[in-house]
Amino acid sequence: MSLIPKSHPRAKSLMIREKLVAGFEKGLVAKEGLLAQGRGEAFDYLIGEKTGKSAKLAIKVAAAQILLADSPVISVNGNIAALCPKEIVKLAKQTGSKIEVNLFYENEERKKAIVKILKNNGASEVLGTNPTLRVILSGIDSARRFVDKNGIFLADVVVVPLEDGDRTLALRKAGKTVITFDLNPLSRTAQTSNITIVDNVTRSIDLLTENCKKLSNKNKKTLKKIVEDFDNKKNLSNMINEIKNNLTRRSRIA
Ligand code: ATP
Ligand code: MG
Repeated sequence: MSLIPKSHPRAKSLMIREKLVAGFEKGLVAKEGLLAQGRGEAFDYLIGEKTGKSAKLAIKVAAAQILLADSPVISVNGNIAALCPKEIVKLAKQTGSKIEVNLFYENEERKKAIVKILKNNGASEVLGTNPTLRVILSGIDSARRFVDKNGIFLADVVVVPLEDGDRTLALRKAGKTVITFDLNPLSRTAQTSNITIVDNVTRSIDLLTENCKKLSNKNKKTLKKIVEDFDNKKNLSNMINEIKNNLTRRSRIA
């Protein structure tokens, strides 16, 4: 890893980038994953590289939704495995969620590397690797149409950090409740998910786990109310307003 001085104004962002490059070199991340990171970085700039009010609300609602689920699954791709494997395992353990590897650009070697890093970080089981348990999620063309019979196929709630729009739509059509982290409030994923956390996943994944812990002693009725009172479209438009306000503030400085 190259040395990034802590005083650098983009230090945190550059460190995340380095993590992803290291993940690419270890065979976890696809080339396209590096580009997805770039797209995310641009939006992180616009949201001010902080967890805003709307993201905090979405995190709380997501926590309630995960706690209400009968069979929650966290879907992991190369970027997530490179950026926050430990945090994903922590969230899964806190909530009793299963973990499934799901790649847009299917590659057995990469899949193995992802399973290995998740297991090294404490995962006891990682689904999505047994070819005899593969079933097809209709409505998409990519390798991601395959899901695990015991994982996403059965799930009622799926957490998909950094997902593609086609697949999000297919998950919705299959009747899943979809929770996503996506820095771009305008992406198809952000717009079609049930709960969209517009934030850098590296910044807010632990917040989600903390919220799950905090809400774990609440009864079903209270959790249901949190979910029912939430309007994802409205929250996304609040998020876009947060971006607008950031830009206005910055244009005054410039
Ligand atoms: P969609 O297919 O949903 O319309 P897209 O085609 O614009 O989205 P993709 O390349 O499919 O984008 O997915 C990458 C998405 O992941 C982008 O929206 C990007 O903002 C987001 N992203 C990248 N890195 C992060 C990160 N660290 N945390 C949260 N979101 C991220
Ligand atoms: Mg896409």
